[in-house]
Amino acid sequence: MKYVDEFRDAAAVRHAIDTIAGIATRPWNIMEICGGQTHSIMRHGLHELLPDNIHLLHGPGCPVCVTPAEKIDQAIAIAMQENTVLCSYGDMLRVPGNNRSLLDCKALGADVRVIYSPTEAVDIALSEPEKQIILFAIGFETTAPGNAAAIRKAKLQQVENFSALVCQVTVPAAIDALLGNNDFEIDGFLAAGHVCTIMGFHQYYHLAEKYQVPIVITGFEPLDILAGIEKCVLQLESGQHSVENAYARYVTEQGNQPAQDLLQEVFQLDDQTWRGIGVMPNSGLSLNKSYRYFDAEQRFSTVLGDLDLSMSKPVNEACQSGLVLQGKIKPDECPLFGKQCRPDKPLGATMVSSEGACAAYYRYAAS
Ligand code: SF4
Repeated sequence: MKYVDEFRDAAAVRHAIDTIAGIATRPWNIMEICGGQTHSIMRHGLHELLPDNIHLLHGPGCPVCVTPAEKIDQAIAIAMQENTVLCSYGDMLRVPGNNRSLLDCKALGADVRVIYSPTEAVDIALSEPEKQIILFAIGFETTAPGNAAAIRKAKLQQVENFSALVCQVTVPAAIDALLGNNDFEIDGFLAAGHVCTIMGFHQYYHLAEKYQVPIVITGFEPLDILAGIEKCVLQLESGQHSVENAYARYVTEQGNQPAQDLLQEVFQLDDQTWRGIGVMPNSGLSLNKSYRYFDAEQRFSTVLGDLDLSMSKPVNEACQSGLVLQGKIKPDECPLFGKQCRPDKPLGATMVSSEGACAAYYRYAAS
């Protein structure tokens, strides 16, 4: 298949659904990690077409959703300083911190700019040398190489008025933490195809073995997702637990080596706080020693030291996005869903982000 329509063909989708129904003999809980996959499932109604014994759980793979409120507070505190420019991807702007969002802060006069490529932030730094330019470097392994490339460019060109506020997260540690939690059962995983395009899938072997779960590298179109589910169910029904690649048109076992080399050069593994979930060991990336000069947390340590996080309150304590992100509840099980909390008035990050599960349910499933 070559064109996107072919991956959405109704007859082929029906056939794939029937195949899954024919092999699934008992209930299976399968988690798709990525918010992009959640949106595709909801948009194309796959959750309604699948047989009742296939339960899809939505995972924490939405970068905007898992960025902790405290990190947004830090970005706001820096952006509110004179002569600073905070550069961010657009979907971060509406995500609430503990008290307000970057969009609120922009309305108050802060210079917050939306960028489409991280290296734009370096270009702004070069063209406005009298200002401090800060890249809000968030996301999973998909955004990390672009952020690393920008930071490396700043180092190579000795751009002294550039720094990065880093909040990078990694998928394998999240899977490890979810499977190590005995609260509920996940029988199999659909790993995110775009992350594996960069990182390969060799990093999942030990997780499949440790927890005896199938992990299937899966894409984003309806037939991609159904292929991932089918491979997962086939393994579960036959008692297997291996790593399989259902997205071979992009993903190789070793991934994109130059991108991985770049990550290795700029970042190091570090503990990271995930919004609504908490601290997960080695689940994030921070700047390594040779790039620490560009660490915005160090450069603005005086400003950030004054942040009184003890005064912070969650925007809405009733928001259950932490449970949504772990697949423990479906978005429409939150009592605020579609009532007090809607995309035009979001109370939690999972309703703000274009990849958030609550936004996906509101957009495609709310009656
Ligand atoms: S519907 Fe809104 S309040 Fe409820 S979990 Fe989702 S983001 Fe939070």
